[in-house]
Amino acid sequence: GITLPGREVPEWKKQAFGNNASFGYITDKSIQEQRESLPIYQLKTTLCEAFMQNQILVVVGETGSGKTTQMTQYLAEMGFTKRGIVGCTQPRRVAAVSVAKRVAEEVGCRVGQEVGYTIRFEDCTGPETAIKYMTDGMLMREMLMDGDLKRYSCIMLDEAHERNVSTDVLFALLKKLVQRRKDFRLIVTSATLDAEKFSQYFLDAKIFTIPGRTFPVDIMYAKEAENDYVDAALVTVMQIHLNEGEGDILLFLTGQEEIDTACEVLYQRMQRLGRSAPPLIILPAYGSLPSEMQSRIFEPAPRGSRKLIVATNIAEASITVDGIHYVVDPGMSKINAYNPKLGMDSLVVTPISQASARQRAGRAGRTGPGKCFRLYTELAYKTEMLPTNVPEIQRTNLGNVVLQLKSMGVNDLLSFDFMDPPPAQTLVAALEKLYALGALDEEGLLTKMGRKMAAFPLDPILSKTLISSVELGCAEEVVTIVAMLSVENIFFRPKEKQAQADQKKARFHQPEGDHLTMLAVYESWKRAGFSKAWCVDQFVQTRSIQRAQDIRQQLVGILGRYRMPIESCGRKFKAVQMAIASGFFMHAAKRDPTEGYRTLVEGQPVFIHPGSALFQRNPEVVIYHELVLTSKEYMRQVMVIDPKTLLEVAPNFYRSADPNKLTRRKKRERIEPLYDPRDEGNQLWRLSRRRG
Ligand code: ADP
Ligand code: MG
Repeated sequence: GITLPGREVPEWKKQAFGNNASFGYITDKSIQEQRESLPIYQLKTTLCEAFMQNQILVVVGETGSGKTTQMTQYLAEMGFTKRGIVGCTQPRRVAAVSVAKRVAEEVGCRVGQEVGYTIRFEDCTGPETAIKYMTDGMLMREMLMDGDLKRYSCIMLDEAHERNVSTDVLFALLKKLVQRRKDFRLIVTSATLDAEKFSQYFLDAKIFTIPGRTFPVDIMYAKEAENDYVDAALVTVMQIHLNEGEGDILLFLTGQEEIDTACEVLYQRMQRLGRSAPPLIILPAYGSLPSEMQSRIFEPAPRGSRKLIVATNIAEASITVDGIHYVVDPGMSKINAYNPKLGMDSLVVTPISQASARQRAGRAGRTGPGKCFRLYTELAYKTEMLPTNVPEIQRTNLGNVVLQLKSMGVNDLLSFDFMDPPPAQTLVAALEKLYALGALDEEGLLTKMGRKMAAFPLDPILSKTLISSVELGCAEEVVTIVAMLSVENIFFRPKEKQAQADQKKARFHQPEGDHLTMLAVYESWKRAGFSKAWCVDQFVQTRSIQRAQDIRQQLVGILGRYRMPIESCGRKFKAVQMAIASGFFMHAAKRDPTEGYRTLVEGQPVFIHPGSALFQRNPEVVIYHELVLTSKEYMRQVMVIDPKTLLEVAPNFYRSADPNKLTRRKKRERIEPLYDPRDEGNQLWRLSRRRG
């Protein structure tokens, strides 16, 4: 069977990354030769001229042509770094780190010296840093502090076609900056598809094309739809390995869990084949993989063996590995999307776009002719996949972005110069939510609370919870709870041992509900010295709780930086309940006289999840973290709350019902939302319009 990831380092990982690695670093070309063999090198002179002559330049080129690693170095050679830092944004953290390391190696320095990177919670730059790679989110945060980016001489918005929310906001901010600072250069790189559109948006900027060097790729489709794409992918990989000629394989899956499990299964299948099959080196690649492990994917496989990279979308365009001849594309990826039930964004597995599918296939034809195995039908490709990806800004919750823009002094969001404006309702919904949370005042301007909230890279609901806890003297507890809420599945419930697992979990149950139960679990793990054995014994997922520990540490760091004291409330959990209510008051539900609960805001029937500490206890009013729909609409992570607390923490949102004006049902509730957040005719909408 499959051993679950996270228990101990599995064999395949030891094989892939262990100290006695089965293969070492083999390079047949010197770094200089490698640089000179890149397609971009042929165009160096004309490209540098274009940098000189244009304040904004759109650069288009095949992935792997050298844009990300070379252009910053060219700019440095041209002397841009004498006037300020050359910054380069990446939509993904992994890419920022991996590319910075590569460029440092090419430049001949250590990362953090002349070449550095900054990603969320990790700053690897120093006083000498002249070339800086960073996530677009980080550049946006820098613009919060310095709207003119005075430290920079040039910004390269790399992979702009990815269209992250932050990229889209940076488009507008940097477009303005270029008009303010005549000495500033902006370079936007993109896939061919969007170049015209980008050029138009950026004041008819010149487009510079780097001709690609690609080989034909044969595309194979599935004859019929696969219902288990992971399994189909593994079968395909084995077929390629056993029947096809030389060349490495790249398999696209959606996330860490899926990738680790797939690697494990494949490793075991290979073991079973024994010596009858040539060796297959299985290498996972995803964002949270430690970077020493990531660099293994670039090392060539030794003669007589084949390399398989099992990657998330990071291998679609942000990271290029040479030598891939076969691509296996199940046609899925995990994207961030607004989840109305959660009231927050969450990651969902969705079909990719045709543009992504083409990009994935192209990865097989970089060093020679290749093959791409699509695990979906040609009909599905033509009729079910969208031509291009929907920009993130049009599908996600904008709470955080609106908060950041407001704190940069951008007040009129409805006429902000977005390349593709988000739907007005989404903006309004975000404004209303921020108003209810106390981040904006009645005029739609940022409050003191809002300014503090903008400091946290969290959903505003969670930042509000955390900041309230500081004021209530219980940040020590709440920072743990927020961290535990930010990871999935703390508890491990294997099919054969469900009763035993449930029993163990029940020992942690707290009368106040699941939030405090999670706190109890974490505290208990801490007393056990953060031990792995404890996790195994208590049916707790080691990796999840370790991730919570990591997030907790990062949040503690930010609290410290802003001098917000982290105090403990001891056993006085009322404060904790109040802090949570101050963020999650919109997620409240009241017991229904007939059966289950109804949400206070929308009156939707909901039920306490059977896994909850409050299952069958049925308190009068509860706050839930999220709703999940299985056989019924269930509330997950539920906490008891005193309705008076709701009035206290959210006076903008709830009021005591006037007994004279209410129906009998409402009278029983005695508390009602001040306005319907879905009602477009409400106050804040008019306010933001008037200000607009
Ligand atoms: P582009 O941005 O145009 O897609 P890059 O500048 O990222 O191209 O990559 C240029 C070349 O550098 C590619 O052939 C790639 O394989 C190589 N490369 C990039 N990062 C690394 C790394 N960390 N280790 C080894 N080679 C790398
Ligand atoms: Mg690149």
